[in-house]
Amino acid sequence: MRNYLILIIALIATSVFSDENTSLYDFRYWTAPDNTRIVIDTEEDALFNVSKQNDYVIISFDDAEVFSETFSNIFFNDERVKKVEIKRDKETIKLIYYINRDFIVKQFTLPPNTKYKHYRLVVDIIDSDVNSSLKKTKIAETTKTTKKVLPKYKKIIIVDAGHGGEDSGAIGKNKSKEKDVNLAIARKLVTTINKNSDLKAVLTRSGDYYIPLTKRITIAQKENATMFISIHADSVESISAKGASIYLLSEKGNNSKLAKQLEQSQNSVDQFGGVENVIDKDKFLKNILSDFSRKDREIQSFELAKKILEQLGKIGPVHKKIPQKANFVVLKSPAIPSILVETAFISNPTQEKRLTNTKQQQKIANAIYRGIINYYSEIEKDL
Ligand SMILES: [Zn+2]
Repeated sequence: MRNYLILIIALIATSVFSDENTSLYDFRYWTAPDNTRIVIDTEEDALFNVSKQNDYVIISFDDAEVFSETFSNIFFNDERVKKVEIKRDKETIKLIYYINRDFIVKQFTLPPNTKYKHYRLVVDIIDSDVNSSLKKTKIAETTKTTKKVLPKYKKIIIVDAGHGGEDSGAIGKNKSKEKDVNLAIARKLVTTINKNSDLKAVLTRSGDYYIPLTKRITIAQKENATMFISIHADSVESISAKGASIYLLSEKGNNSKLAKQLEQSQNSVDQFGGVENVIDKDKFLKNILSDFSRKDREIQSFELAKKILEQLGKIGPVHKKIPQKANFVVLKSPAIPSILVETAFISNPTQEKRLTNTKQQQKIANAIYRGIINYYSEIEKDL
């Protein structure tokens, strides 16, 4: 009887506590070349604290509980995070991340969105030498005398795989994620381009992690790029929409409903990374932008888009025969012909199949490559 009573008291106690507890719903990790991102799904009013010690980071939550189904997701390791430990101190849960190199910590929270229904705490473990080297590059680039001397005919092409990490992009009916398809095609495009000794292609990301827009721009500048191609897959409500489209920068944007939607989803990508629109704030970028004749770039981007669409039309359907103008942030930045290729509709199950098929991905990459070559031979004719 006494035992029975204790059990009842214990049950009452847990139910009272669980109402007040913060739930830690899930844990995700994303490894990038210079940082590891920790994402914890939690509640809006979660009481947390992030503290950096010599070689570890503690993320603690007051009055918290971890769901048993996601408990194993806490544990993780990569080139930066040696191991993760969990310690409970009464109602406080401490997650201890042991880091094996010099680092800095940044944190922010994100509200729920259509893909993630919980509030998210994001903690970035960033290699501390990254910041200093980034600053050095910026100084070098503003001083003309230290500018890199390029081999005479090497053209540098930045290939940007859209989305990544927490930002999966559109999701197909068969659950394919746009971020994966984009990366697969981007990789194949880079390999194809690099077989041509006159060209050099560089990826903005080479794995499943998020890259802030500032960084995509910095990569293009650092590499002295002459072209910027962002790879995406389209998505709409209707499953029958199909074909490729290409978007380019326009100061005015586009009034069509689809372009507006696209514009919004592209620009909202930054919310995932917690980086605000840096373009208007960064003086360095502003100077570069004002240096460049916008009109000239728009004509170049249009020509490039036309050449690539022509080739994509030979291997599959085309959604919009004319290159579209849209005000994508990612395209606004580098002062070089810059386009965004919607390779096909991931929302169309037949096209989704095509996008996830290795041979078809290579076909798409080859078509884009042929378009690039045709563009270059056209502008060289005019010189
Ligand atoms: Zn996209």
